[in-house]
Amino acid sequence: IYISLYPCDIKELFCTATGLSRNTTISLLDSTGAMICETLHTSVFGHDYGCGLFSHLSDKEELFQNVLTQVAEQFSRAFKINELKTEVTNRLAMLEKRVELEGMKVVEIEKCRSDIKKLREEMASRNNSAFYLCSSFLDDNKKLTPRRDVPSYPKYHLSQETVEALRQPIFDVWQWEPNEMLSCLEHMYHDLGLVKDLNINPITLKRWLLCIHDNYRSNPFHNFRHCFCVTQMMYSMIYLCNLQEKFTQVDILILMTAAVCHDLDHPGYNNTYQINARTELAVRYNDISPLENHHCAVAFQIFSQSDCNIFANFDPEAFKQIRQGTINLILATDMARHGEILDSFKQKVDYFDFTNEEHVTCLKMVLIKCCDISNEVRPMEVAEPWVDCLLEEYFMQSDREKAEGLPIAPFMDREKVTKPTAQIGFIKFVLIPMFETVMKLFPQIEEVMVQPLRESRDRYEELKQIDDAMNEKKKSENLTMGGKKK
Ligand SMILES: [Zn+2]
Repeated sequence: IYISLYPCDIKELFCTATGLSRNTTISLLDSTGAMICETLHTSVFGHDYGCGLFSHLSDKEELFQNVLTQVAEQFSRAFKINELKTEVTNRLAMLEKRVELEGMKVVEIEKCRSDIKKLREEMASRNNSAFYLCSSFLDDNKKLTPRRDVPSYPKYHLSQETVEALRQPIFDVWQWEPNEMLSCLEHMYHDLGLVKDLNINPITLKRWLLCIHDNYRSNPFHNFRHCFCVTQMMYSMIYLCNLQEKFTQVDILILMTAAVCHDLDHPGYNNTYQINARTELAVRYNDISPLENHHCAVAFQIFSQSDCNIFANFDPEAFKQIRQGTINLILATDMARHGEILDSFKQKVDYFDFTNEEHVTCLKMVLIKCCDISNEVRPMEVAEPWVDCLLEEYFMQSDREKAEGLPIAPFMDREKVTKPTAQIGFIKFVLIPMFETVMKLFPQIEEVMVQPLRESRDRYEELKQIDDAMNEKKKSENLTMGGKKK
């Protein structure tokens, strides 16, 4: 839908719809009708210009002129063009390619038109500045504006069985609807005593969680269910490792909240893509953990709205501490920093000191990292579908990289990667070493978390052997049949 927001695409759409050649000159007028620019091009879209075509307009053409004017107005309001120039240029190139390949049909143009109308109404109804600020971040019109009323998600009464299972890493994360996951998350904050001890408004908590849900995208992997999984694993670890005996309630709040927020508004394409494609996020954050910085920024934009600020009752000093702690944990989830963070933890673990702030901070970073990549800790039936989700997201990225002529990581290439090959290395060289280091501090995780990892590694190694044998067989068959093939 958003392709209609880019000037080049608008021009394409306009020309296709009116049957004019792409080389037609479309001129821009200001609101008094004075000529601004003889040709429609990217850089003029930062301003409130009308748009006119120098020929006699039919009704249909007038309609499209209207649409164009509306889009131009929205565009200039919502986007700061200078900051976005690089991003826009990249997107345009891609879109041009796509339009050429697919060709735009009239039906699609009609659909674009109605989508633009809907979008316009939506934007008109949300004329607060936070929305516009965020709309430049968010590709698909997510709602950062909190709901003014009390969230209406049905109060799911969690059964005693569910409440108990929720504390275990074996919890089946697939059988719950978003509303039920929201109730579970809400329950965790209550159950840990955070709401009571830290004086969190329970209605604000509901509204905040709902807003969190609305700001996760429906990616194959980095979606609200992933957020739920990571938070549920954190909750399990808090019990399993008796963290409430070692940490303050503020630390527990930071751990849980960072887990909830850690992938907010993830676009489904990783940092490497952001950097190589020179996206708006990469430009904004100077290629330094662009996604994690974005997740953090979105999280605190949500907190900046009083209806969603679960920290409203904290004094400024406490808020500062929570903000710093949460940012630190979300930024720690960038896997590019894995070695650095794990090494730092290894240096402390043998003489770990829970009264040393630096030690505790480092442990919290490792804990959120563990939870973020903890799917393989879960039972095979729960863990395995996540591998398919991750590969789907990877393939989406590598396909796009191919189309845009960007470098492709081998582990994302559908020609090269299989489920076992994707998992074995990751379990052996990332997961097990990290969890075994944490095990030095909390031996109780061996049985519940490390053992399942070892079993998963063994299972994928068996699967790989079967794959290899099949490929070997195919190869030799091809060799013997080689000369006889048609
Ligand atoms: Zn994550």
